[in-house]
Amino acid sequence: MIDYHVHTARCGHADGEMLDYVAQAHKIGLLELGFADHLPLLTQEDPTLTMTLGELSGYVQEVNSLAEDADGIIVKLGIEADYLPGLEGETAALLASCDFDYVIGSIHFIDGWGFDDSRYLEGYAQKDIHTIYEDYFRLVAQAAGSGMFDIIGHLDLVKKYGFRPETDITGLLEDTVAALKEAGVCVEINTAGLRKPVGEVYPSETILALCARAGVPITLGSDAHRPDQVGMDFDHALRLAVVAGYRRLAVFNKRERDYIDIP
Ligand code: ZN
Ligand code: FE
Ligand code: FE
Ligand code: ZN
Repeated sequence: MIDYHVHTARCGHADGEMLDYVAQAHKIGLLELGFADHLPLLTQEDPTLTMTLGELSGYVQEVNSLAEDADGIIVKLGIEADYLPGLEGETAALLASCDFDYVIGSIHFIDGWGFDDSRYLEGYAQKDIHTIYEDYFRLVAQAAGSGMFDIIGHLDLVKKYGFRPETDITGLLEDTVAALKEAGVCVEINTAGLRKPVGEVYPSETILALCARAGVPITLGSDAHRPDQVGMDFDHALRLAVVAGYRRLAVFNKRERDYIDIP
């Protein structure tokens, strides 16, 4: 199995040595471990959110040296980059400065509001939930269409704290999946949602079924912020993938996509 979404202490809100993440991957018998720490934000410097620009080369070097030494396991160099509308050029330039195996594109901000950050939950009371969902998924479609990302991270992160619109969002989800398909990006099944108030994986079974029907490929990630979270709840995630109709997972090498079968 593969885990394509694990963080490192550099982001300021994850714990453990990178070697311990690799050790855990070994222990549970992973085939591939992909580090995907947060790319420095171009809009703000917050040591509790991402590494600094100055730390990026050290991150790349440490992943690469772990990759050389890790016997029996393939260590990949990924990154989780925020999609920041208006800063596509700067983001693309920063991404091009490193030889990543893959780039996960994530939305953590709606018009500067960190909606997935527990410090800013009051934002959910200040705006209509349906509008928040529309704004969020519009950004997802834009991120996919930007062509900068191989994988869209935690596709329905907007549900993290359990706020759900009472309106029917089927059309919104269908349009989003159509945009993913047209852009040719993958989505990840991200098990971190199981550890959050919403208590389910990203994306939902409904969205996963839409993705499968459209032929949008998937990868798998724990979004581990601690070594013991590597590969967490993957049996559950893989069951959902198979139920949705998936038979294989996408893997990446220097931003080239390939596939492995789901066992
Ligand atoms: Zn994080
Ligand atoms: Fe994220
Ligand atoms: Fe993450
Ligand atoms: Zn993430």
